[in-house]
Amino acid sequence: MQTRNRFRYLIQCMALVGLMGSITPGRLPAQDSAGQPDRERIIRAARVLDIHHGAYIKNAAIWIRGERIKAVGSAVDVLKDAPASAEVLDLGDVTLLPGLIDCHTHLMARLPSGADGYALNLLTKSEAYRALEGAADARVTLEAGFTTVRDVESEGSGYADVALRDAIDNGLVVGPRMRVATRGIAAVGQYEPFGISPDLTGFPTGAQMVSGAEEARRAVREQIGHGADLIKVYADWLYPTLTVAEMQVIVEEAHKANRKVAAHATTTEGIRNAVLAGVDSIEHGFHADKADLELMKSKGVYLVPTLSGTDAHLVKKPDDFNSPGAKAYLEAIRQLIAMARQMGVKIADGSDPASAARHGKNAEELQSMSRRGLTALEAIRAATTSAADLIGWPVDVGAVEAGKFADLIAVQGDPLDDIALLQHVKFVMKGGTVIKNELGAAH
Ligand SMILES: [Zn+2]
Repeated sequence: MQTRNRFRYLIQCMALVGLMGSITPGRLPAQDSAGQPDRERIIRAARVLDIHHGAYIKNAAIWIRGERIKAVGSAVDVLKDAPASAEVLDLGDVTLLPGLIDCHTHLMARLPSGADGYALNLLTKSEAYRALEGAADARVTLEAGFTTVRDVESEGSGYADVALRDAIDNGLVVGPRMRVATRGIAAVGQYEPFGISPDLTGFPTGAQMVSGAEEARRAVREQIGHGADLIKVYADWLYPTLTVAEMQVIVEEAHKANRKVAAHATTTEGIRNAVLAGVDSIEHGFHADKADLELMKSKGVYLVPTLSGTDAHLVKKPDDFNSPGAKAYLEAIRQLIAMARQMGVKIADGSDPASAARHGKNAEELQSMSRRGLTALEAIRAATTSAADLIGWPVDVGAVEAGKFADLIAVQGDPLDDIALLQHVKFVMKGGTVIKNELGAAH
């Protein structure tokens, strides 16, 4: 979407200076159903989740033209209106849901484990190599049923996320629709990699480091100029880092260009600073107190809690959570979700994968949220309608309804009864193209 507009703008500019004849016409980013914009298809399934009403349409059908949904409803009604020549794909006894959205990924990050993992990643892999890792991660993420992601910082990989987004849009790489934050913005010296020798002046940093309002302003302008769809800031790192004044400038520049701002914030004060500065979402938010959450609620700021990494760690190494500090942290995130839910703070799904093992496990986050009190429907909404709203694409994705992209997933069974089913997606369609179909001989 973004890319298409940019290309149109470019073509307009070139036309103005009389260069139109020298560029290849029609080189707009290919969509998934490129060349088949009028292809008519019907997908049938035992159930389709109507996300708005939280109810199933039984014995349902979805009529798809090209890459978008034309109609959804009971098979009897839909088949009456659809052309008789439409291809029919009957998925049988499955539940169809909208493609899921993860609002907190780092596709370019496959960090080795250990305290020096972050630095080693930058030391031993080129940006080009990390971009290719990103392409692999994009594929597993899509195959896991996440048809859209908001990638919140390339972790030292520069603008590789812009390249990946555009390569996916151009049909060169298989992956989800992407909203990208590019480099991220942090206070000088207050983000990874830590402990690098000061002699290594050119060593890459995990984010763009700034000090003072004007450097912050410049960073936002640069990142938008190089293709950022949103801006990511680090409001804290164990303690508050960027000042309210610095973040206000970041928000001002971003909002001026119609870009949202996502703030990493885990401390009570860091969260407050970011919300006061006007950011649109708090990432993690672990130690938010009641006052923070009230402020978020009153300003309509989203919470993206990122819990599943902790839960995976808990399963793998339960002994790591025996210390008083670790126990306090687990209690803090339990309270956070309970309070946010009870107060009506908006919650969007984000799983924060940053290792080879975690990419593609995005759906575990829905289970982590429901384990702490969200109903299955609330967790699914966090990864569909709410996520679409947060990323600014509510018209195009997040529900199975007429006019939206035909981004669909199927599971066997009832995900409203067992949210873990979403970790075993059997069918994925993105923009009308089947990406994965493990439903056997699909009629
Ligand atoms: Zn993250």
